[in-house]
Amino acid sequence: MMNNILSIPVHKVMQEDVADKLEITIEKFHDFMSGIPDSTNAYLNYKPREVCLRRLPPGLTQSQLEIALQLWDVHSFLCSMLLTTIWRTDQLKGSVIRSLHERNLITGASAARALFESACAFYIESNSLVNEIKKAKLDGVYKAEDATKLRISLSNKAIKIALGTRQSDILENHDNYKRTNIQTLINKALKSLDAPEYINCYEKLCDAVHPSFESFSAFTVELGNWEEGSQLRWVMNRYALRPKEIVDTIGFATAWSMERLLDDFQSFYVTCMDLCLSARIPWLEFENQVSYFGLCSPPDIYSLCPCGSGKKCKFCAHSLSSE
Ligand SMILES: [Zn+2]
Repeated sequence: MMNNILSIPVHKVMQEDVADKLEITIEKFHDFMSGIPDSTNAYLNYKPREVCLRRLPPGLTQSQLEIALQLWDVHSFLCSMLLTTIWRTDQLKGSVIRSLHERNLITGASAARALFESACAFYIESNSLVNEIKKAKLDGVYKAEDATKLRISLSNKAIKIALGTRQSDILENHDNYKRTNIQTLINKALKSLDAPEYINCYEKLCDAVHPSFESFSAFTVELGNWEEGSQLRWVMNRYALRPKEIVDTIGFATAWSMERLLDDFQSFYVTCMDLCLSARIPWLEFENQVSYFGLCSPPDIYSLCPCGSGKKCKFCAHSLSSE
């Protein structure tokens, strides 16, 4: 089957449909990663060329220029949030695969749990940013003041997400940081996805990571009463794979989380690209050439639209109002 990524001992004990799903998802993720850069700039302190209204960049009206100037750095920030989530997913996926190869189920469970948390958090967070952009488009962004409104609401949301932390010392000393509670994000995501039963899967992984039931049984080959006697009998092994529930849970959680993340990466990327083109960001001129992940070159109306719709730019409308 395909690249045989999971041609490993653990794979043999994994439920067949879970293993197949995992392999397909990993294959899809590899394809997706081939278009993702290893580094990029976000230009937090970059200055666009002084606005000279008598010398507008070609193809840009004055109000379009003002809107683009308001939104370009927020756009670059959103794209960098997407990119770092993609990189994190890639690391965690690699960790799950290596752990399964090496039969390190505890490490595998830990990485699968982190993937599950990432999937739920990114689903809630990326959707809240997408909805903010949709809401602004409904109201219409026609002039600089409208763009300022969008800039403030988007950056407040994005910065709140980026400054989420559990570190009490940071929270005590800085007003901008917000406490993140991953359990709240998971509950919200599973409710919204109408998949409340997946919480069992998450709890199993937590148990496997903490010193508790699943982490104990991960090393148990056999557990039961000795029939003729009164003792409990345990047979344990460093590489025990008998409690295959853990293997299945790692496989299921990884496949589900990566499938979820891939969907959300793609739809968030489409929204970022739409914002980029609608706000005319590619037409801005800077002192130096700006290039960051999620920014396209000014497209030609007869070529394919960079948003990935498959349509020519001429027929692919990107606008900051829903009219
Ligand atoms: Zn398009």
